[in-house]
Amino acid sequence: MTGSIDSIETLGLVDGPGIRTVVFLNGCKLRCKYCHNPETWTLKKPNYTSDELVKKLIKNKPYFKRNNGGVTFSGGEPLLQIDFLIETVKKLKKENIHVTLDTAGCGIGKYKEILNLVDLIIFDIKYASEQGYKNLTGHTIEESENFIKALNKSNKPVWIRQVIIPNINDNIEYLKKLKKYLKKNK
Ligand code: SF4
Repeated sequence: MTGSIDSIETLGLVDGPGIRTVVFLNGCKLRCKYCHNPETWTLKKPNYTSDELVKKLIKNKPYFKRNNGGVTFSGGEPLLQIDFLIETVKKLKKENIHVTLDTAGCGIGKYKEILNLVDLIIFDIKYASEQGYKNLTGHTIEESENFIKALNKSNKPVWIRQVIIPNINDNIEYLKKLKKYLKKNK
């Protein structure tokens, strides 16, 4: 199976525990106003087979093991290449490598399968209301809520990521709204 990858970054320190190799997959349906990597929006021609990617990633295994790190799949939206992701994560888990999924939950299904495989999910919540989500991302909140339902059924640890944007959500009212939204979920 092949996948479309924008870039691979070593020495990632903010996308999960320890030192990580971060794989940025191409493709994203959202158009967040603050997006800092719009070059990943388009799902370009596949450029890696799953085996080629795993071979490259396991070269860094000594670093992961010494620093409680691993591999993080980010993007773009990694869930858009779900079959490639599932196949690749299965191979990494066979190598006993910690895998984090960094996602906005805006994929195309098979959420239960991928959540069963990964060790940690970093979930980018975008905005804690239907209208705010649409204003910020240009997309409806529906798919994000489908993903949240799958997260609620899984027992995997989740880190919530919320970008704070001046004049949009940098206020106490929004934080209270976020707290209420998060409390509804496991
Ligand atoms: S989800 Fe990420 S990659 Fe997609 S538009 Fe938003 S910030 Fe950019």
